[in-house]
Amino acid sequence: MNIHEYQAKKLLAGFGVPVPEGAVALSPGDVAGAVGATGGPLWVVKAQIHAGGRGKAGGVKLCKTAEDAKREATAMFGKTLVTPQTGPGGRVVKRVYVEKGSDIAHELYCALLVDRGSGRVAVIASTEGGVEIEKVAHDTPEKIVTVPIDPATGYQPFHGRKIAFALGLAPETAKQAQGFFGALYKAFVALDASQVEINPLIVTKQGQLVALDAKLNFDDNALYRHKDVVELRDEGEEDPKELEASRHELNYIKLDGSIGCMVNGAGLAMATMDIIKLNGGAPANFLDVGGGAQKDRVIAAFRIILSDPNVKGILVNIFGGIMRCDIIAEGIIAAAKEIGIEVPLVVRLAGTNVEKANELLAASGLSLIAANDLGDAARKVVAAVKGGR
Ligand code: GDP
Ligand code: MN
Repeated sequence: MNIHEYQAKKLLAGFGVPVPEGAVALSPGDVAGAVGATGGPLWVVKAQIHAGGRGKAGGVKLCKTAEDAKREATAMFGKTLVTPQTGPGGRVVKRVYVEKGSDIAHELYCALLVDRGSGRVAVIASTEGGVEIEKVAHDTPEKIVTVPIDPATGYQPFHGRKIAFALGLAPETAKQAQGFFGALYKAFVALDASQVEINPLIVTKQGQLVALDAKLNFDDNALYRHKDVVELRDEGEEDPKELEASRHELNYIKLDGSIGCMVNGAGLAMATMDIIKLNGGAPANFLDVGGGAQKDRVIAAFRIILSDPNVKGILVNIFGGIMRCDIIAEGIIAAAKEIGIEVPLVVRLAGTNVEKANELLAASGLSLIAANDLGDAARKVVAAVKGGR
């Protein structure tokens, strides 16, 4: 799960991470109050969308007077920002953050993430802040340092010294780095974050380290123990299909291909996508209906898959263990009745109650393409999509 910059800054500030003063406006009516609450002489007006790259897209405005800040903030509402992270459709701005402007001496970069190579939380730091880190990693990888933190010891002063040295900080600022990265690490662990990115991390002309931007992602599997974080969710920023899926406890990720996939088990869902690719097709989604799915959840899954206009065919691949094939069959039949399935439907069922499932499907009179195994199913759905119907 993602949250907005202003929410991330507030959470991080609670752990002692220095951030600029600011106030959010949830509607144009809040603008005057937000500007008033934020002392000048420089104001920064920032569009709040769940995507980076706002600066270059006109989503970050520096203003020298309160009047200017009010005008820019009001104008920001309803703007569509197109950045490399929004996709070509862009995002409409519905919240605006007003911040006290900082005097920047240097723009640096840092992030904390789970480094799968070392199996540890790692701090990634670079002197090249304010630009896309992917570009730095590609062009000048030597300018990025990774400092893994052993969970047995937690964050230690030597970690801070190592990062401060890599960032080339002056002695006074390096001292602050100790506390700064310690606070970030504490926040990361306590909040069950999956990523914290500060880009830019700045050194002000007064020598202060400040998180000028903040991106915070959370481990969805740990959200149940962070009710306060869940409350920060802004459903307006999420893909409507993925949101609907999470309401039905379906693991759904939208992809760009044309073959809708309905599978039980994440591993089998991955294998299904692989074998579709191997046969020259492309999956329209990842979808794991889960082990204990009931008929309603199967119908919801079909509704979500079919709401994607790119879907030209569907592959149902179920290995019945805990999941019973007859439940899936009932779901398919009900979905066909309720929603209508206009695209070719390839069904491969195996395992618990498969005979009963096949009887149900045969008796339903549904036109579907039966498949014997996964390879057969993938070939058939790719052929059906390519051939059209
Ligand atoms: P992003 O483009 O979505 O990542 O938005 P950021 O919050 O990172 O802001 C983009 C850029 O705006 C930063 O890299 C800075 O160069 C500039 N900026 C943001 N806040 C301030 C500020 O308080 N003072 C100054 N001088 N520049 C700022
Ligand atoms: Mn940024």
